[in-house]
Amino acid sequence: MQDSSANLASATDRFDVVVIGGGHAGAEAARAAAAALGSGGRVALVSMEPARIGQMSCNPAIGGLAKGQMVREIDALGGIMGLAADASGIQFKVLNSSKGPAVRGPRAQCDKYAYRAEVQRLLARFEAIEVFAGTVDEILVGADGAACGVRLPPGAHRVGADHAAIDRNARGDAIAQPVFTIALEAPSSSARTLAANAIVLTTGTFMRALMHTGQSTNEGGRIGEGSARGISFALKSLGFELGRLKTGTPPRVARASIDWDALEPALGDSVPVAFSDRSPQDLPAARFPHLAQTDCRETATTPEIHALIRENLARAPMYSGQIEAECGPRYCPSIEDKVVRFASRDAHHVFLEPESLFTDEIYLNGVSTSLPADVQLPLVRGLRGLEHAQIQKFGYAVEYDMVWPHQIDSTAETKRIPRLFLAGQINGTSGYEEAGAQGLLAGLNAARRARGLECVRLGRDTAYTGVMFDDLVTRTPREPYRMFTSRAEHRLLLRADNADERLAVLGASWGLVDAAQLAAFEERMRAKAAIVRAMSEMREGGMRLIDLAKRPDADLAWLTARVEPALAAAIPVAHATAFVSSLVDRVVTDARYEGYVVLQNAAIRRQRDYDSVSIPDSFDPRALLGLRGEAVEMLARFKPRTLGQASRIAGISPADVTVVAMWVRRTARSA
Ligand SMILES: Cc1cc2nc3c(=O)[nH]c(=O)nc-3n(C[C@H](O)[C@H](O)[C@H](O)COP(=O)(O)OP(=O)(O)OC[C@H]3O[C@@H](n4cnc5c(N)ncnc54)[C@H](O)[C@@H]3O)c2cc1C
Repeated sequence: MQDSSANLASATDRFDVVVIGGGHAGAEAARAAAAALGSGGRVALVSMEPARIGQMSCNPAIGGLAKGQMVREIDALGGIMGLAADASGIQFKVLNSSKGPAVRGPRAQCDKYAYRAEVQRLLARFEAIEVFAGTVDEILVGADGAACGVRLPPGAHRVGADHAAIDRNARGDAIAQPVFTIALEAPSSSARTLAANAIVLTTGTFMRALMHTGQSTNEGGRIGEGSARGISFALKSLGFELGRLKTGTPPRVARASIDWDALEPALGDSVPVAFSDRSPQDLPAARFPHLAQTDCRETATTPEIHALIRENLARAPMYSGQIEAECGPRYCPSIEDKVVRFASRDAHHVFLEPESLFTDEIYLNGVSTSLPADVQLPLVRGLRGLEHAQIQKFGYAVEYDMVWPHQIDSTAETKRIPRLFLAGQINGTSGYEEAGAQGLLAGLNAARRARGLECVRLGRDTAYTGVMFDDLVTRTPREPYRMFTSRAEHRLLLRADNADERLAVLGASWGLVDAAQLAAFEERMRAKAAIVRAMSEMREGGMRLIDLAKRPDADLAWLTARVEPALAAAIPVAHATAFVSSLVDRVVTDARYEGYVVLQNAAIRRQRDYDSVSIPDSFDPRALLGLRGEAVEMLARFKPRTLGQASRIAGISPADVTVVAMWVRRTARSA
């Protein structure tokens, strides 16, 4: 490995943390790093196109099942995704609202231009964050083997925020305008180096990216954008094992060309619920929802459309062998995949989702496709209500390089190159929320490394974010990794409603949560404790309210009305009924799940014991007697950093874990 540290930058180009990529992972990483570094910290956010920072590449929606829980976790840790979704939401809906609280998922259909503008506005508030336009093509590594900077080819330059655009967006005057559009310097005529104490790499779908529509193939990670080639080769030459994945997006159609009123409406909740506990105060107009609410529509594919797809399968890049990547998202498949895999189905739902209040683009959720344009048009026009549809953008598939995630620890730091962190789609995941949650932890840990502090992890019993990282480092994903509630063994604890209880105090101790957010959390907890007291003391027909609340037919509105006066007497601050009702709901859920949680606690304690035992870097499974061949192979590949991680690697038996545990104990004694 060559020593690049000599090749370092001038003092103005020296940063605590450099974040590469301004997608969902990069935006959260930059914010988390800036917050954790505190005053005097410097973060560079380098992005191919700063005006597209926070861009939603595909579906204009945030949250959903399990994903909504992750947005709430990001919010509890002071992140921006929930705030941006609240500011730009045009339809809010809690999915699974008729099911148990553990599997409910808040979701918002967003105006994608307003979302992007809001992400940029929120980032622009951090003085510590400096934005660069450029495409990083090399990670610099010092004599100690740790990452120490990045190289930008000629043309890179610093970009500032357009405050007039921020004002216009806040007034709602025009189409939500990008913020990072002001060039602060001329593009550099030679390559430029940014030195850093830690680096977060979040390349999304852009590494050596190719887009396919039928036989036509173009370089680029997203329509109208380029591809990042150099970084792929740079990672390979540093010894990383790369893979190739693919994903796809549906056509966009002009709303005026759709017989909108003939289609079934898909409505949002009549009382929208914000993702962020900070939203009502934080929005420019100080109200929620900020934007006008709209509805979506629903239609469905037909047997004729399926026949058309089957006839043209050989022209779909996935089936013609044109795409090199082997796997795409099983849970978000293209319409051609659905027709092949579910051959007996003669209809699939298609949701028509507005992409913006300011344009007439409609996203056809359910018909992601890379079939040629001459097939996409009759396919779309075969849908009821879309007989005269005008396609504005054809669907396409994109394939891109990623880094197999067994090469990172659950802190997001790579095992091969200290101080280099990876987050988002580059780790083989799919989805904005997965990317955002990884970015947040990676940015935090990069800042901690830059300040000489230990990296931190989130446990499987603390957050979905912890579940995701643990899954990524203990098993190789066979398809883009997406979060589901079923992945979390402690999902009764990891609810959307209690994310603040799980994470706010931790977040504050790491510098991620500011004083105002912490104070609001503490106030909520005081109110919740007062509600628990009131419900334990008050009785109805001889039964305590808290016991009545456990019944399946308990009436939330009635309970809230009973509790409100007691809360007002106990706590001097006046609270809105919606606030009280949400806390009563939380208390009721806690009470209902109490029994299960007690049962889970023993398993959680065991898991925590294992997770607290570190495996030293000197661990070499090949030198250990008593391990089976498969265990040696898997432990050598995954290089687990804790006994807990080792125990969860596929192919590792309890007996193997005992052998490793004995070695760790012996090594600790002899140290
Ligand atoms: C066509 C398409 C369809 C998709 N379909 C789905 C879907 O159906 N379901 C789903 O869950 N997800 C889908 N996604 C994925 C979703 O967009 C991502 O999961 C999410 O955006 C990942 O966030 P990220 O931050 O990792 O990367 P991205 O949002 O892709 O952002 C990457 C950022 O890195 C920048 N960048 C990359 N390389 C460099 C470099 N070398 N130097 C400087 N900047 C760089 C880019 O400019 C960009 O700002 C799709 C994406 C695309 C493009």
